[in-house]
Amino acid sequence: MSLHKFAADSLVANLQTPVLLLKTATIQQQYAALRDAFPSAQVCYAIKANPAEPVVQTLANAGSGFELASRAELDLALRYGADPARLAFGNTIKKRADIAYAYAKGIRLFATDSEADVRCLAAAAPGAKIYTRLLAEPTATADWPLDRKFGCPPETALELLSLARELDLQPYGVSFHVGSQQNSPEPWGQALRRAAWMFAECRQRGIDLALVNLGGGFPVAYLKPVPPIQAYAEAIHGFIQAYFPTPPQLMLEPGRFLVAEAGLLVCEVMLVARKKADEARWVYLDVGIFGGMTESAGEATKYPITTDYPADAPCSEVILAGPTCDGRDILYDRYRYALPDALQQGDKLYFANAGAYTVSCGSVSYNGFAPVAVHSLP
Ligand SMILES: *Cc1c(COP(=O)(O)O)cnc(C)c1O
Repeated sequence: MSLHKFAADSLVANLQTPVLLLKTATIQQQYAALRDAFPSAQVCYAIKANPAEPVVQTLANAGSGFELASRAELDLALRYGADPARLAFGNTIKKRADIAYAYAKGIRLFATDSEADVRCLAAAAPGAKIYTRLLAEPTATADWPLDRKFGCPPETALELLSLARELDLQPYGVSFHVGSQQNSPEPWGQALRRAAWMFAECRQRGIDLALVNLGGGFPVAYLKPVPPIQAYAEAIHGFIQAYFPTPPQLMLEPGRFLVAEAGLLVCEVMLVARKKADEARWVYLDVGIFGGMTESAGEATKYPITTDYPADAPCSEVILAGPTCDGRDILYDRYRYALPDALQQGDKLYFANAGAYTVSCGSVSYNGFAPVAVHSLP
């Protein structure tokens, strides 16, 4: 009898591992919770968190918009009937041909953070709405900081919006991402203060901005509890009231929050080995860093792990590693999970809350180990 209570044992027994079991009902619940917390915001799901077709289908049916990073993500959203008016090309790094493609498909909202990209947009997406992505302040509270690669300082963002207007684009708003798995609402405060400054400066230049894109970052509980989504909503609405004379249009780009809890990753123990008497057992799984457990790199995300052994089975510390012949393919070494002493080859291991950044990241078949497959459930 397994402890995960996610799906029937008989179903799990017959699936090839590694596989992600995906409960679409949980995605619907998370979407509803977010809509409740932010009733006035347009939700655009960040497809990169999990591009599996049941995810896109479920969210398209629920009326969600989508945040796209590439031509393939755009095609995926359109295939499931997403309304182009609710799609945003949110990647600041894009080829001119892909901008033209998106424009031809009806996309009219684009993120940008550089002059070269604004010029590309003006040429390939004439008249489109543009929002500038602001550099996020580094925070100690995000498990996956996003504060260097994307965005620009507010002064640059102002110049870009002025340039956009000169080039007959529509300067439309501001975005930021405070870091993924953001454990505190505070960083939204700093970001919203900058966004409000941008709105005021733009108004002085005769540019009326409309949109604030609050990004993603909303966390889920892995091994540690996190504040509820309602706490984020209250804090964010408070910041907006404090900094903006009139509330802007809001957009959210959640990834993790919508899909993580919907996924249970099932894998198999390939080998248990003891290398030194004074070292923990090494437990090698048929999934590793390259097959989908990308967020285990650096041990940033620590998933709740269970087995089919009884809860009171004697346990001891293990080092968890993936199956490839690559020395980096170690999941947890500094952090030691305690797993049953009796664990052996062929046993299953269950990673809970694994619906985000697993199947999307494990897209290679390194050493011949296939990436995680998806099996969806109602
Ligand atoms: C990845 C990404 C998101 C989603 O972030 P989460 O932390 O998973 O909510 C949102 N917006 C952009 C631009 C992204 O790249």
